[in-house]
Amino acid sequence: MRLVSLEIDGFKSFAEKTVINFQTGVTGIIGPNGSGKSNIIEAIRWVMGEQSAKTLRGDKMVDVIFNGATDRAPLNRALVKLTLDNSDHYLNTPYTEVTVCRKLFRSGDSEYLLNGQSVRLKDIVNLFIDSGIGKESFAVISQGRVAEIFNGKPQDRRKMIEAVAGVGKYKADKETAQRRLAETNDNLNRVNDIIYELQ
Ligand code: ATP
Repeated sequence: MRLVSLEIDGFKSFAEKTVINFQTGVTGIIGPNGSGKSNIIEAIRWVMGEQSAKTLRGDKMVDVIFNGATDRAPLNRALVKLTLDNSDHYLNTPYTEVTVCRKLFRSGDSEYLLNGQSVRLKDIVNLFIDSGIGKESFAVISQGRVAEIFNGKPQDRRKMIEAVAGVGKYKADKETAQRRLAETNDNLNRVNDIIYELQ
């Protein structure tokens, strides 16, 4: 699975429709401070289902819509379209090429499309969560997060490694099993008390 192209139109500083075609290998994006490099990463995060405006450095989600510049009026909708090569079926879908599209209007209405078909946000989120590249994964690491990881406590770093390794689910299952075991032991003790009284 690899990124094929990214279309950004009306999202943050991208007032004009901009298409980035990714080649194979590593892609580096360079540019002066404030030129929109982080906005590109945020566009990828957003189209994959990001629901937190704060994570996208805004207060409200409509803040992602181009809000005007000295020589340009604000726009009324943001659109991001991400195309992925899925010929290895890394994403759990029969499509060999997957295009996800997200639109947000200033009215607050939004639209999600999967290969041109209208879908729910949940469908987009599930598509990526299954593959481990969803919004909660470490597939996209923002600048602040890097410092957080380096300066974090060893316990927090351990949690991060566990999340990457997918251990979290097993830990939760273990805690549930231990709680049930404790409840069963309590019940057994109560039964033993009753038996003792009856003897
Ligand atoms: P640095 O190298 O400093 O990290 P960068 O290249 O990553 O910078 P970004 O943080 O992606 O730059 O872009 C910041 C620019 O995006 C700012 O000029 C900001 O005004 C602009 N911007 C953010 N949201 C919007 C919006 N909704 N409408 C218009 N411009 C926006």
